[in-house]
Amino acid sequence: MTEPSANPLLEHIKRRISLSGPITIADFMNEALAHPEYGYYRKQDPFGRAGDFITAPEISQMFGELIGLWAAVSWQQMGGPSKIDLVELGPGRGTLMSDALRAVRNVPGFSDAITVRFVETSPVLRTHQQTSIMPYGIPATWHEAFDDIPGRAGVPTIVIGNEFFDALPIRQFERGETGWAERLVGVDAEGGELGFVRGRETPVADALVPATLRGTAKKGDIFESCGPAIAIADQIARRLNDNGGAALFIDYGHPHSAFGDTLQAVKAHEYHPVLNQPGDVDLTAHVDFAAISRAMIEAGARTGAVLTQGTFLVMLGIEQRAELLKTDASEDQAKAIDQALSRLIAPDQMGTLFKVLIGYGATTTPPPCISGAEG
Ligand code: SAH
Repeated sequence: MTEPSANPLLEHIKRRISLSGPITIADFMNEALAHPEYGYYRKQDPFGRAGDFITAPEISQMFGELIGLWAAVSWQQMGGPSKIDLVELGPGRGTLMSDALRAVRNVPGFSDAITVRFVETSPVLRTHQQTSIMPYGIPATWHEAFDDIPGRAGVPTIVIGNEFFDALPIRQFERGETGWAERLVGVDAEGGELGFVRGRETPVADALVPATLRGTAKKGDIFESCGPAIAIADQIARRLNDNGGAALFIDYGHPHSAFGDTLQAVKAHEYHPVLNQPGDVDLTAHVDFAAISRAMIEAGARTGAVLTQGTFLVMLGIEQRAELLKTDASEDQAKAIDQALSRLIAPDQMGTLFKVLIGYGATTTPPPCISGAEG
């Protein structure tokens, strides 16, 4: 008799594969992250020093504050409309939104105009978000998906997403001798362990790989495609065009589409094998910002050049904000502020790996930090 597995989700996935054959990496990620009972984001709060990873808003209040001010100036440049939908995709604990709402309290008219719209699937995290923004008394609604937020005629939208796209399921395609085959997750017949297998070659990937890359592909190259991210970028771009507005996406990833396997698993701040512990490790992939930007432009919206997080935060004045915070701080607190600043902007920390993409509606005044507009 085999030992009962400590991981019921792993057993569920193996059973699914033994019944119907290998599954796509997107199917695997969906099970691992979003299974209603055992999915990673459904069953726990993964953030913070004691959790599996720490995100920029959890590192320092300065991050959410500056994003709040970016949103406020975007709103002012739209002419300060009396109503605005402030959407956050995947808000985690609600820390970013809470810091943003606190920072904009003194911007005349802005707080009164805001309705917060959270796009969040996890019930545990929804509760955290509710608690985080409670002090500001601003109306908020929760939605399963961006498209579930009703568009309101004449009401512009500002969308913020920090580390949201990296959590969405990707598919991987591997270049063979002549064409592309999807990389799938199967069960090894002998050991019963999950492993990667090559599917049949399919013309699908040829259409997904951008023309600029197609000609350079060598055998073994891997191309990642994030269909859900592209679909959401398209929906957001349409909303920005219909009602006006701006979107700000921050994530780790690359400014140009490229080949490479970036699927990774993290638990307790360490990397782990990606297939072994579904539901117990966070699974992410690097974001292809060029693909997101293309989707927005194809939908008729505009985007700025992709910036690094370091450049973006310095443009918004994070160094001055840190100095100001330090004026009332103890020596220890001042040290912590400097450390947080360097984590957020230093090139060898989050400053360069993390990228920023800003989009806006075709008839919207460009929001702050649009430099070298691409579309
Ligand atoms: N923005 C937060 C959290 C990032 S983690 C921060 O910076 O701290 C990813 C977040 O996206 C979590 O809140 C997770 O529950 C949510 N999420 C993951 N997949 C999602 C999906 N498909 N739809 C909506 N929310 C999702």
